[in-house]
Amino acid sequence: MKNTETSDFKYIGNILLNWYKKNARDLPFRQTKDPYKIWICEIVFQQTRINQGLNHYNNFIKRFPDVKTLAEAAEDEVLLHWKGLGYYSRAINIHKAAKQIMADYHGSFPSEYGEILKLKGVGKYTAAAVSSICFNGKMPAVDGNFYRVLSRFFADGFDISNSKAFSYFSELAALILPEKVGDFNQAMMDLGSEICKPKNPLCGECPLHENCLAFSLQKMSSFPVKTKKVKAENLQLTYYFVHRNGQFLIQQRKDDFIWKKLFEFLPEISVELEPFVRNAKTINHKLTHKNLSIEIFDVDVTSASVWKALIGTKKYIISDFENFHEKSFPKPLENYIQNSLKD
Ligand code: SF4
Repeated sequence: MKNTETSDFKYIGNILLNWYKKNARDLPFRQTKDPYKIWICEIVFQQTRINQGLNHYNNFIKRFPDVKTLAEAAEDEVLLHWKGLGYYSRAINIHKAAKQIMADYHGSFPSEYGEILKLKGVGKYTAAAVSSICFNGKMPAVDGNFYRVLSRFFADGFDISNSKAFSYFSELAALILPEKVGDFNQAMMDLGSEICKPKNPLCGECPLHENCLAFSLQKMSSFPVKTKKVKAENLQLTYYFVHRNGQFLIQQRKDDFIWKKLFEFLPEISVELEPFVRNAKTINHKLTHKNLSIEIFDVDVTSASVWKALIGTKKYIISDFENFHEKSFPKPLENYIQNSLKD
């Protein structure tokens, strides 16, 4: 931190507020202070770019306009409406948190930062964003945008992969925090995503460029400093796409590892099905920190009696080509079904 202990940096927060007044993005969730909607949008846009996520957000809010509707919905339906956003565990947590609000807060969204933080799946960033935007809370919503803007502005080399980065940048943010924290948090979100971008920041358009140390040194790309890179893990998955006359067999995933509660093809088959195994296809798919190689064997059960015996075991769920959209599949499996339809 450079000379920050002794200087007054509050003017920076006010510069940002003035900039935000003129340049705030016109987004649907900016017209509301409904904490439920702000919470959902914070979760949706943590993982998706605004223009990609907007339709998903609107559809989700249309189907689940409030906490009660969401809490009363079946989990499968919540997952279905999360389709296209990935990170399904977040949808499961949102659903659990809605139930928690109904049970512990009589259906009223909690207003205190500390209470919001108790909701399932809600971290410090989201609790700070919701409490400051909707309830005049005073916590900075520190995320990657804060790391980037602050480390560049102060040319501060604190390593953002350090486990203390969050508290370090929270302290730094406190130095510039103006009265209107909700607007300030949103200004930082907009500045970080539209102007102080990770690559090629638009410093000429930035309200902070006159005082930004990284800009004056022309060292924008040197900040933020990140030393540790998380290495992606390579994983191999095998599936059997067991089908007959437009129907196919699936099961619901239970483990926490990936794709919890989504539907999948069969990970193994019994010996009676081996004669029906035809070609295999390998699909490569990337998840955060995981590279998946998915081998899918096509199993066309041409024998009516074998098929009958198989579904008679009641071990599997039967899906069909016409209605498979009613269930949530991981993206690569959904693509596989769609391509099978074309064959
Ligand atoms: S001047 Fe450039 S590097 Fe500095 S905060 Fe603005 S956009 Fe970021």
